[in-house]
Amino acid sequence: MMMKIIDAHIHFGVSEGFDHVAQESRQVNSVEFLAKAFADNHVVQAIAMGTRRGDNSAVCSPQTPDLGGKLNPEHYNQPDFIRYCCGVDSSALPGCDLAQSLAEFEQLLRTPQCVGIKIYTGYNHLYPHDRIHYPFYELAQQYDVPVVLHTGDTAGTRGLVKYSHPLEIDELAMAFPQVRFVMAHYGNPWIVDATEVAIKNPNVFIDLSGLAAGDFSVDDFFENYRGYVEHLRTWMAYLSDYGKFMYGSDWPLVRVDTYIELIRRLTPEKYHPQIFYENAKRVFTRL
Ligand SMILES: [Zn+2]
Repeated sequence: MMMKIIDAHIHFGVSEGFDHVAQESRQVNSVEFLAKAFADNHVVQAIAMGTRRGDNSAVCSPQTPDLGGKLNPEHYNQPDFIRYCCGVDSSALPGCDLAQSLAEFEQLLRTPQCVGIKIYTGYNHLYPHDRIHYPFYELAQQYDVPVVLHTGDTAGTRGLVKYSHPLEIDELAMAFPQVRFVMAHYGNPWIVDATEVAIKNPNVFIDLSGLAAGDFSVDDFFENYRGYVEHLRTWMAYLSDYGKFMYGSDWPLVRVDTYIELIRRLTPEKYHPQIFYENAKRVFTRL
């Protein structure tokens, strides 16, 4: 099937951590490897979540994906198939120059490559609706870009999952009805709660990254996690709106072809054009 795909959630950057997770699924954390894997699987665009901390520690510089070297908005040093969300270093916000930080975010948001804002709830010990984040949501509204929030389980033990529980998105969605919010990873394993928050709030969407990780065969996955698969299908159907779901992989945590296959088999075929492409275009309007 020749279906154009947008991957709404990847990570892309020079780091030993990402090199290691790429190796664990027999991949290479490089732009060349990713470009070929995307071309082979008809992925035409991907959105990278910024994870690289800014160089200026006196301000909370936006976190960006990066190939190394300083991100220069005038000479964007990443391939054209990658757009990105600039990340908010929430835990550092109380000690930094907010006005300067917001100015740096605006500088990136004025460029077409920056298509959203990412908040690392759970990893940062602040609720998504903490008032400290409000200026960033106001920026998202002003520039008409969505805000992606980490929801659900955190990798490693240093996160606190009470902050990344999907129910915490409800208050935020109500406070900023003009802003589109994306619950990354479908709030996994709080699928039911995430479903309810997405049903209730017209401005809340879901990316399907992070439902599985590592090197696995899709056949084995469907065999070993039959109950989980049925649970996901049940609550996606209950939501009754496939316009809410976007394909995302969390690459390099999974192989490109494997994860596409997983989501394809998990979801009804007639909604694939929406899930794999059209919904991302509607939510990330800059794509
Ligand atoms: Zn991620």
